[in-house]
Amino acid sequence: MIPLIRGIRDIFPPDSDLWRHIKNTAENLFQDFGFSEILIPIMEKTELFKRSIGEQTDIVEKEMYTFTDRDGESTTLRPEATASIVRSYIFHKMYAEDPIRKFYTIGPMFRRERPQKGRYRQFYQIDAEIFGQSSPYADAQLIIMLTILMDRLEVKDTTLHINFLGCFKCRPDFNNSFKKFLIKISDNLCENCKKRAETNPLRVLDCKNESCFQLTAEAPQISEFLCKECKEHFETVCKALKNTNIKFQMNDRLVRGLDYYTKTAFEIQTDALGAQNAVAGGGRYDGLVKLLGGPDMPAVGFAIGFDRLAEIIALNNINYAQKPEIFIAALGKKCIKEAFLWASALNAVRIKTETEFSGKSLKSLMRRACKIGASNVIIIGDQELEKKEAVFRDMNTKEQIGIKLDNPVKNIMEALSKKAL
Ligand code: ATP
Ligand code: MG
Repeated sequence: MIPLIRGIRDIFPPDSDLWRHIKNTAENLFQDFGFSEILIPIMEKTELFKRSIGEQTDIVEKEMYTFTDRDGESTTLRPEATASIVRSYIFHKMYAEDPIRKFYTIGPMFRRERPQKGRYRQFYQIDAEIFGQSSPYADAQLIIMLTILMDRLEVKDTTLHINFLGCFKCRPDFNNSFKKFLIKISDNLCENCKKRAETNPLRVLDCKNESCFQLTAEAPQISEFLCKECKEHFETVCKALKNTNIKFQMNDRLVRGLDYYTKTAFEIQTDALGAQNAVAGGGRYDGLVKLLGGPDMPAVGFAIGFDRLAEIIALNNINYAQKPEIFIAALGKKCIKEAFLWASALNAVRIKTETEFSGKSLKSLMRRACKIGASNVIIIGDQELEKKEAVFRDMNTKEQIGIKLDNPVKNIMEALSKKAL
């Protein structure tokens, strides 16, 4: 047996049934909000992630799967989706035809982290991005879409955290003041934060180390430094959320892991998964399109951790497997041949039908029909074939009727629609 690579999993039934349910629910909702799907590659030039995510981030410093391809090109398995979507938006000059674009994508991401529950090396994200809209209502709309998704998926006990990170005008003032504060306390910070204080000071705010947390309690707050535009942006987002009855919590430690965020940052957190408390995160990244060589174009987006979302919903213990409407219990060679034809014809007209080719006893076939949760069973043996009438059994009511075999597929469909009345 060849085992899996550490931190990489298979998703199979019943989990994959739940995953399909999540995927369908998200896609239907996003389509209603006017988002289109974008498919982006799994691999990109390493430079894309270095430039966008930032050299001094955990992802780029220690989590990327990077290799040199045979032609010498440094290649990386994508650790997140935003960079690739922005690259695609610029590369295809999508902004020229219509700068306002709304995209979603769902797929695997790769980060070499320490594997544990809710943290994998290949994990999945549901990602949504809006380009070309600087309005705070775009931020609010994404957050609303995210909360509707959580409601539809019956995800309970989550909290929406929000912070405002300022823009290119006001953030440098905060950074300076914050850096000065960090110099005062730097001797007592953890080794990681000592480094961060130099390279990526904001990250010190979300250090999981208790003493760093305490030490930064008195730090200057970004909210005191916001410029007029950022303040207005912030107030409009908050008001829009309040007007739509969305509860949120201000969290001035929410700085997000990536360099490119500006203005609004948000996260959905849960207590259900132990230390892995972030289910989704997002925010505005007005500078990224330009940074990657495109025009000056605002953007905002979010990424949901699919694996974590599925793990929370799985706690509700609902079976999302699709059950067959019909199971054909065929006894003997001749009947199996018939059952095969009927099942194919019924499947072709979208009636979920299963059959069995084993030639096992009726008892064993009925057991299988129960196991897979079939709503109805068609029983066909040599006797029925001779009488030209099969048995149609409703597995709930146990009622049985005859199905004439002059036109079995049509007659089975008729029996089903009579039942539905
Ligand atoms: P965390 O603080 O938990 O490491 P993050 O800030 O690195 O999260 P993002 O880059 O914002 O995560 O990604 C968005 C979401 O993707 C997270 O909220 C989380 O649900 C999920 N996620 C991130 N890394 C992993 C992972 N290694 N395994 C599973 N899910 C992950
Ligand atoms: Mg992380």
